[in-house]
Amino acid sequence: MIVIHGHFYQPPREDPWLEAVLPEPSAVPYKHWNERITFECYEPNALLGNYTWISFDFGPTLLDWLRRRRPHVYSAIIEADKVGLERWGHGNALAHPYYHVILPLLDRRNKEVVVEWGIKYFERHFERYPEGMWLPEMAVDTETLEVLAEYDIKFTVLTQRQIRGGKAGGPYEVLLPSGRRILVFVRDEALSDRIAFGGPDELPKAMEAAPDDRLTLIALDGETFGHHKKGEERVLATAIARFGGKLANLGLAAERLKPLGTVEVIPGTSWSCPHGLGRWTRDCGCDGPAPWRQPLREAIDWLNNTVDGAFDGWAKSRGVDGWALLRKYVRVLLGENAEAFARNAAPHIQPRELLRMLEAERAKLAANTSDAWFFARLGLEAGISVKWAVRALELLGDKALLDEFMKRLSEIRGQPAGNAAALVPTLRGPLVAASMALAATISGYTAEELGPYQIHFNGVKIKIVDKRTLDVWELDYSEFGVPILKPAEQ
Ligand SMILES: [Zn+2]
Repeated sequence: MIVIHGHFYQPPREDPWLEAVLPEPSAVPYKHWNERITFECYEPNALLGNYTWISFDFGPTLLDWLRRRRPHVYSAIIEADKVGLERWGHGNALAHPYYHVILPLLDRRNKEVVVEWGIKYFERHFERYPEGMWLPEMAVDTETLEVLAEYDIKFTVLTQRQIRGGKAGGPYEVLLPSGRRILVFVRDEALSDRIAFGGPDELPKAMEAAPDDRLTLIALDGETFGHHKKGEERVLATAIARFGGKLANLGLAAERLKPLGTVEVIPGTSWSCPHGLGRWTRDCGCDGPAPWRQPLREAIDWLNNTVDGAFDGWAKSRGVDGWALLRKYVRVLLGENAEAFARNAAPHIQPRELLRMLEAERAKLAANTSDAWFFARLGLEAGISVKWAVRALELLGDKALLDEFMKRLSEIRGQPAGNAAALVPTLRGPLVAASMALAATISGYTAEELGPYQIHFNGVKIKIVDKRTLDVWELDYSEFGVPILKPAEQ
């Protein structure tokens, strides 16, 4: 039995204020990287039917972008899970925490929020309760496994060096301090790496050689199939056509294969950093020197404490269980009207006040997205994190906290940004929406909505309502001022 698992994911490239992906020039000839990687990988794999034969997880922020912008690819992914269910009695998809965060770096209640949101997201889209959950970067500790088990997740996937004894395959059982149990499937490290980084004959060779009486698990980035390796999506389709009879998914493997005993998981480990969780906390050497990693982690830890502290204080003052409200808030992320949610969830609190606090928490979680630290460069991905952090602090409405955070960012130095504060746009949110609406009007179009912003023109005034928080701004565009343009050098 052989299982090929693809982890499909992109950093959440949406601007935190407009919630739209702005152009990324490095992705030419495409507008941004989501478009380019969809063309190279997500779409061709859908057209080839590959998702119906492999085990996979899609990060919710990526799947949501596909749903909105490439609905035919999204539908093929959802359908593939159902095809797996018919063929093997278990769906192909694993759930994924709502954000791609390093779970061991969060405290338990934050872990529970991103795990529960990921499950609710999965249920909404795949129309079933997930059996397995993928851990971002396979980052694991005991509490992370406890939280998965608490939510009735049956299994997850780890790599060999995260397991004492380092055996591949499985499933193995992990006994947790609470008395709960969870299964882990262990990725064959050398084989997966050969397929990810070797020639096109590695995958068919591995499939042909896989024994029938035990599990061979290949797990790699889904983008290997077409983006990291050109043509690998066709290699996969051809190998499936030849050896498809040997394939299974993890749900079927969990049902058919008896656990091969218990194993001990090494906490504070991951699949993409041999230095434990160094890649997301310190200058561990992965991808080159990155002395900015640790201070950025400290800044985001500070953000977590600051936002959670404010949130706890607020919840106490209002006599509500803030974390229960936050867990429920996923309904808004799944499309429920924010105001209706607020009035229903806590009728005695002003909706605007409640929604601002919940959005601040959501923005804080998004700021923990692991991509910020992954590469040695302080660039685009770190920008995602610091922008969400700034949005979280704006929502708290305490200028001193925002100033303190910006000062911290300005002291974090690295290239190409220069320093982390340079990654935060000066013009953002309603001001950008107003400028865009004005530009559209001048061009003869009417912009009534830009992302979460509703736009109303009234003479020289633009009224902007943020649907997420019900915040209202009124801007007089006769006061916008004239930009000072520097003439080009001759
Ligand atoms: Zn490392």
